[in-house]
Amino acid sequence: MNANMYWERTSCRICDSRNLLKYIDFGEMPVATAFKKPGEEHDKKIPLSVNLCRDCGLSQLGVIVKPAYLFSSSYPYNSSVSKTFQEHCYRMAGSLKELFGGQEGLKVLDIASNDGCLLKEFRKQGYECIGVDPAEKLVEKARAEGIETICAFWDSQSAEEVVRRKGTMDVVTATNVFAHIDGVHGFIEGAKKAMSDDGVFVMEASYAKNLLQHKEFDTILHEHHSYYLVSPLERLFSMHDMNISNVEEFANIHGGSIRVTAVKSSNKRMPVQEDVVEGYLRQERENGLLNPESYLQLERNAAVIRKETRECIDRVHARGETIAGYGAPVKGNTFVNYCRLTEQDLPYIVDDTKDKHGLIYAGTNIPIVSSDRLAEEPPNYLLILAWNFADEIMRKTKHFSEAGGKYLIAIPKPRVIERVPV
Ligand SMILES: [Zn+2]
Repeated sequence: MNANMYWERTSCRICDSRNLLKYIDFGEMPVATAFKKPGEEHDKKIPLSVNLCRDCGLSQLGVIVKPAYLFSSSYPYNSSVSKTFQEHCYRMAGSLKELFGGQEGLKVLDIASNDGCLLKEFRKQGYECIGVDPAEKLVEKARAEGIETICAFWDSQSAEEVVRRKGTMDVVTATNVFAHIDGVHGFIEGAKKAMSDDGVFVMEASYAKNLLQHKEFDTILHEHHSYYLVSPLERLFSMHDMNISNVEEFANIHGGSIRVTAVKSSNKRMPVQEDVVEGYLRQERENGLLNPESYLQLERNAAVIRKETRECIDRVHARGETIAGYGAPVKGNTFVNYCRLTEQDLPYIVDDTKDKHGLIYAGTNIPIVSSDRLAEEPPNYLLILAWNFADEIMRKTKHFSEAGGKYLIAIPKPRVIERVPV
């Protein structure tokens, strides 16, 4: 193992406390985005564990992999955005417009704007859009579709460039980036700089409540530095003279997400939903989400899921039947490697993203194939690794279940589904 590939984080990224509790430890795991070509050597494995800050309640990885090692050259960057996410962005644009009293021509900045997928939805609702993203190919794609995009990492310099080009923003969004950054304070300061005094900052991230209650241990990845509750976020924003003005939950986005809207403390225009924010803070306290014991339970829960999945697959094989995987999201990688599944267990994994076909799942010898393989060589069971899209996948593979195929979903408890829900 090359120690230069990562560094250890021994203090909390929000409050700087060293009062950290390691509550789940996977040992050494492959970087989940390290999809490989057949025959290509696997990267070195890197420790993967999560610490709880006992002072502010933030869950965060124990080691930070250096960005150069997080994305292999084979990783399909252009994976398509789901229809669900597009609609989610369109509705977000609408509800934010309402917040501004239906005002036309609002200015929006999206941080880590990808190929402009969110901004395209905002543009449909009359917003003036600008994005910032460091990935050249994605920026080119966004620009080709008329979305003005600055190719840069998010920092105070890119914030200044946004303001120079467009003035300050009414809305600043960060929907798929906040969990992936280490320097949260610099990030927020940059966002503040780009916001007008009456503007709003909107972030989305997986909700750590689901990690615990829904036992979503497979959402733990090297790329995913933080697992947020509202409580540590309140602390973070208050350190920057900002208040949380609203919290919303979305069950169908990334396996359960929260949207947290924050405003500058000096903001006089935007309503602050104090009762909603207080409600979340209270629930988190009352449901044990700030209690270390709740976290220690996650490792035990993961071990039970691994054991039951293993037994289920062994029973399938003992009957002379077969099982394959469906959906090759990066998070399925933690699951497959933690459960030590091999190509003997899953001879292939079907995925609908064309760019992934022909690649090997990180840390395994399991090939990712198109749905043609499913038609040619149907197994008796499909293990749905992308469980947050289970309904969509079962609808899409109706022919498989109509021919007698069954589904296995492992999170939060391994279960077999024989008939597709209508
Ligand atoms: Zn902390």
